This record gives sequence, C-alpha cells and structure tokens, in this order.
Amino acid sequence: MDLKQFVTVVPDYPKKGISFKDITTIMDNGEAYKYATDQIVEYAKEMGAELIVGPEARGFIIGCPVAYALEIGFAPVRKPGKLPRETIAVDYDLEYGVDQLTIHKDAIKPGQRVLVVDDLLATGGTVGATVELVEKLGGVVAGCAFLIELTYLDGRRKLENHNVLSLMKY
Ligand code: AMP
Repeated sequence: MDLKQFVTVVPDYPKKGISFKDITTIMDNGEAYKYATDQIVEYAKEMGAELIVGPEARGFIIGCPVAYALEIGFAPVRKPGKLPRETIAVDYDLEYGVDQLTIHKDAIKPGQRVLVVDDLLATGGTVGATVELVEKLGGVVAGCAFLIELTYLDGRRKLENHNVLSLMKY
C-alpha cells in the first residue's frame, strides 16, 4: 500500500514555512491505519520489543495499537505535570528555548527491550529526549519507529547508535 496517498500535506501550518504532515487522514481510513500499524508491529517483533514507549500525543496514536497487537505494554511520555506519580524528566532543545518530557519512574524494568514510537521524526529532539528517559530507567532501546521521517532535518543524527524505521520519507 502507498501510505503517502493518505497523508495530507498542509503548507504553512502551524506557521509560515512549515510543511505540516497531517496523519489524521491515515487514521480515519481503517485499512491504511491497520497497514501502518502492522508494519510497525512486524518491526517490533524483529527487534524483540517487550514494551512500547511513545511521546504525547501522536506517539500514543501510533504506539498503543502496536502494543495491543503484540500483547505487550505501553508507557506514555508526557509534558511536565501530566503524569500523576513519581517521574523522571529530561530537557530538550526547541527552536526557541527548552522543553521537558517526563516518564513514570517505574514504567520500565531494567534491561527491558523498548521500542520508541512516534508519528514523525523531524529534528529528533522529541525522540532523543524519549530515548534518554528510557535509558535513564535502565531500558534497552531496541529500535525507534516512525510513520514519517523528514530526511532534510537529519533527525537520525540524534539516533546514531540506534536502529530506526520510518515508513515514509519526505
Ligand atoms: P522533532 O522533535 O523536531 O523531531 O519533532 C517531532 C515532533 O513534532 C513529532 O512528534 C511531530 O508530531 C511534530 N512535528 C514536527 N514537524 C512536523 C511536521 N512537519 N508535520 C507534522 N508534525 C510535525
């Protein structure tokens, strides 16, 4: 299946010069959503994933059906103040300033093989911080999977030591 036909490219959103890749038009097509999920499920099996970790919010949309299909767990990575129990945090750079991501301290067992999942790899800041959180808790990053990779932003540079799958490249 050519998944790209289900991606809606929105020019100048959320601001001028950004070419936004809208994946809601994959999700609202049952066959396309299942196809995309199945590709990541196969990759997760190959990598021996024991847990899926995804950053809010679109990492949940991609990661949760993968976890469900594999009958393994999903652990959310969220912005500060959103997780109710003890968390650890990692700072990461934005275009202007810094942001922070958090995960529950008990979300990962030491040595557990974790697949990190998000909708899109741009600069790699989000996934870089997510990988750091996983590793801080003693998890082993088995791989990182995305629907879309913006190759011109070279986010893979931040994942040099990791296996990466992207289903579509722009
Ligand atoms: P980054 O941290 O720069 O790799 O950005 C990745 C996150 O920002 C992903 O979780 C995406 O949801 C979102 N994102 C960044 N650029 C785009 C884009 N051009 N279209 C859609 N989402 C984007």
